[in-house]
This record gives sequence, C-alpha cells and structure tokens, in this order.
Amino acid sequence: MAKEELTCSFCGRKKAETNLLIAGLDSHICDRCIEQAHGIVIEETNESDTKGLAAELILKKPKEIKEFLDQYIIGQIQSKKVMSVAVYNHYKRLLQKTTENDVEIEKSNIILVGETGTGKTLIARTIARMLNVPFAIVDATVLTEAGYVGEDVETILTRLLQAADYNKEKAEKGIVFIDEIDKIARKGDNPSITRDVSGEGVQQALLKLLEGSIVNVPPKGGRKHPDQKFIEINTQNILFIAGGAFDGVDKVISKRLNMQAVGYSASISDHKIEADNLLQYIIPKDLKDFGLIPEIIGRLPVLSYMNPLDADTLRSILTDPKNAITKQYQKLFDMDGISLKFEESALKYIVGKAVEYRLGARGLRSLCEAILTDAMFEMPGTDTKTLSISKKYAEHKVNKSTIKKLKAVS
Ligand code: ADP
Repeated sequence: MAKEELTCSFCGRKKAETNLLIAGLDSHICDRCIEQAHGIVIEETNESDTKGLAAELILKKPKEIKEFLDQYIIGQIQSKKVMSVAVYNHYKRLLQKTTENDVEIEKSNIILVGETGTGKTLIARTIARMLNVPFAIVDATVLTEAGYVGEDVETILTRLLQAADYNKEKAEKGIVFIDEIDKIARKGDNPSITRDVSGEGVQQALLKLLEGSIVNVPPKGGRKHPDQKFIEINTQNILFIAGGAFDGVDKVISKRLNMQAVGYSASISDHKIEADNLLQYIIPKDLKDFGLIPEIIGRLPVLSYMNPLDADTLRSILTDPKNAITKQYQKLFDMDGISLKFEESALKYIVGKAVEYRLGARGLRSLCEAILTDAMFEMPGTDTKTLSISKKYAEHKVNKSTIKKLKAVS
C-alpha cells in the first residue's frame, strides 16, 4: 500500500512544501499556519484587552470608583470625589469615537495638594489598580532640564513603559504619578527652594508630556545607554496625577483670603474660615504664586486638596482599610498559626505616638514594626499560638526601640 503523504490540515500543503509539519492527534499543522494563528491570537488578545478596559470603565461610574477608593482610603472625601469624576471623564474621553465636528474632550490631569503621608500616592495607585492600567511613580526632584545632571523628563515615560512590560499600547493608557511637583517651583517666587537648577526649565520640559504629544523615550532610561533605540510614546491618553506638599502655600492662601475679607468679596467671609486647614480654599492662582508656571497649571486642570490626618483618621487607618496595617500583621502571624490581637488601648497608644512624633500615617507602620519585631523573631516555631498586644506591651517595645530617636529630629 502506498504510504499516504502527510499534509497540513489547515492549508493543505504537502510536507515537502513546508519547513516544519507538527503532528496533532489526527491532524497536522505547518509552520506558516502556526505563525498565522499566532498573529490572530495576539490581535485578538489586544482587542479584548481594549474591549475589557472599555467594558470595565463603562461599568464603573464615579460613585462606584469612589466606593472602591473608600475601601482603601480613609477620609479625604472631597479628593476621592474629584478624582473619581476626573478619572471617569478621562476614560470616557478615551472611549469616545471622535468624528470631525465632534466636541473634543480635553484631558483631565490632576494636581493634589496636601502634606506628605496623607494618601496622595495611595489614591493614584488605588485608581490604577482598579482600572488595571500600568502605573508609574516618579519624583519630580530628580528631574532636570536636558543637559544638567539628573534625569530627563522623558524617563518618566520609561518608568511607565517598564510598568507596562514594554507594551507600548498599554503604556499609552497608563497613569503617571509625579510626586513632589512643588519642588520644581520657580525659585524666585518661593524662597524656601534652594535648588541651583531652575525649576522653570523642568516645568517647561514637563509641559510637553502633559499636553499630549509624541515623545521619544529611551526604553532603558537615562543617558547611560547612548545607543538604545527610542520608542515613540504618545502621551495624549496618559493620565498624569501630580502631587505635592506645597509647604508655605497656606500663607499665600491666607493672604488672599484676608484680602478678600477686607473688601473684595464676601463669598468666603460668609463662612467661617477654618484656619488650621487652609488648603481646602486653594485655587489655581495660589499655585502660580507659589511658583508653578501658568502653562503647567493649565495642563493640570483638576485641583484638589488632602486633609491633614487627625487622631481619629489615623486610628481608622490602622484597622479599617481593606489592607490595613494591623490586618497585614495579623495575616503574617496567621501564616505561622498565631492569632494576633491588638487591644484598643494599644491602638490608641500607637496613634498617640504617631501624632506626638509627627510621623503621620507612615509612622503607624514604623511603630507597629517596632512593637512586633521581637515577636515576629521569637514566636515562629514555638508552642505559643496567641499574642495580644496591650498598651503596656506596646509601650515597652517602643521605649526600647530606635523609633524614639525620630522624635528628636521631627
Ligand atoms: P503621600 O503620597 O501623600 O505622601 P502616601 O499615599 O504615600 O502619602 O501615604 C503613605 C502611607 O500612609 C500609605 O501607604 C498608607 O498606608 C497610609 N495612608 C495615608 N493616608 C491614608 C488614608 N487617607 N487612608 C488610608 N491609608 C493612608
């Protein structure tokens, strides 16, 4: 009997006409069909990625975005609201199919003003997590104008590209958090800034990214790899969220408010001004007076503020968010079969110390670490299966730890 000639079950090519023919259970596939099929898989996946994003975004209305944020961020109601709307509008803009005469929706980049450790990064990160888009944090203080020692602004996009596993399309829909934007304020307007390199140059360079343009990005970043090929990134659909403490801006606000109270407007003087939280009255002009150039302010049209964290908020941060610090420690202990409990008095003590040392929310973790390190070292592998943290226990561990030294510097 003549031996049956093998053929590709997809295109019908004979074995001799292919480079490779792979056998399945009762069929075969040639190298060309594999390549073609692979192409289809990639295309489909990319398409479903976009569809997935679209579906998810359509599902999430601003109220739902805020509800999601509520699970992770305590307080900061105003900022959560403003951010939810801005993000919703931003992605609505992404999804709109523009026809020629259509109204063009502009980007809603955001600027958050508030003391360090009040949750600015946390909000931005949580939104990125919810939307499942790449997220990069960059520190504005390391940015310099081209030609100076430091990083070019383009490296911001390098980070985003890295966060997107070098998937250009994904990176182009990502979120960038620019921290410490206040540190690139113009020197002249703000005596507290002591950089040699004029912040204004960096602000100008940043403008290009914020307004939406095609930027040549060095995929490995920096100037250390002179022969790397640039990747073109379109920043039109990247959401930029800038954050800064703007130390001293309260004086600018208070000056403006006093002027208003004296004569020009009664709008604010109708209300009682809360002198210990002036940030809530911030307007774009205050940022200009602080030293941001008007063009940058214009490109960050959504402005919101973070409230300082009071003792009640700190207490809540310790136990309430979905991944609250105490829950994280409980999980760690649980993995060793140990049940960890905090007495209310101990929690109050931790909050008290965070306030006293002026460590804010970041201090809560350092304090818990100081209190629990010994137990985390000693307990695994022993027969003790419960640990209850009392105020006395916490006090003892904190007094013994180096965290007390922080008090001296604050
Ligand atoms: P910022 O960017 O304003 O300096 P972060 O967002 O980095 O502050 O906050 C530091 C840490 O403090 C966060 O990781 C989080 O654990 C905690 N934190 C700060 N503010 C809040 C808040 N409002 N709700 C819950 N956790 C918070």
